[in-house]
Amino acid sequence: MSASEVIWMGFIASFCASLGTAAGSLGVFAIRRLSRQMEDGLLSLAAGIMLAATFFSLLLPALEYASSDYQSDTLGGLAVGAGTLLGAFTLFAIHQYVPHEHFISGREGGDNYKLGRIWLFVTAITLHNFPEGLAVGVGFAGGELENGLTLAIGIGLQNFPEGLAVAVALLSVGYSAGKSAMIGILSGLVEPVGGLIGAAAVSSAAVLMPWALAFAAGAMLFVISDEIIPETHNNGNQNLATFTLLIGFVIMMLLDTSL
Ligand SMILES: [Zn+2]
Repeated sequence: MSASEVIWMGFIASFCASLGTAAGSLGVFAIRRLSRQMEDGLLSLAAGIMLAATFFSLLLPALEYASSDYQSDTLGGLAVGAGTLLGAFTLFAIHQYVPHEHFISGREGGDNYKLGRIWLFVTAITLHNFPEGLAVGVGFAGGELENGLTLAIGIGLQNFPEGLAVAVALLSVGYSAGKSAMIGILSGLVEPVGGLIGAAAVSSAAVLMPWALAFAAGAMLFVISDEIIPETHNNGNQNLATFTLLIGFVIMMLLDTSL
């Protein structure tokens, strides 16, 4: 693929992945309420898919590119490690400046408080869609069509429960189902923006490829460790959360090895 084809593929594939968010958001018309247990289980499943996508579709290709770029496995590994930390730290810095509520758990409060909290939750999901888009975009590094498509499918799949969680949360504070679904759909549109940026980065300079892949991996790992795991383990559903995460991981691993 030419550089411009990589950019187009990154954009289109990340846009398609955001359709998972849209489909999940529309689910609010059918599923109007999620129990805490359902929510913890679904978001952990999403985290497991994200986790395996980080390893198999971002870090493994990053290590491969870096080892050949730097002609040493050790130097390659160090570069990928540095890129991973850079991605995680960048997300951490963004989290410091953007007000957001962690995924599920939050302090109890009055109706106004709850309304504010739900909006912060929507912001959190929207924010985390950016590194996901980035991941899909950089997945096409080096014209790797299969890797990019696998990422898009995995990310699209795990967007489904996330979109549903957003829309159901909005419905619970009094928005209509239509409006809740619409906002859920919009939260996913951050993804093609990330996809475009990621694909543009990897197609502008080959030296950036392992770095961009590692950066996206670090950003994803930060979200999983900082948000999803603690929040889904906070309500007494730890065992469920652990095993749905593992199931998500296995699903993505199988997707990655079979495509
Ligand atoms: Zn996610």
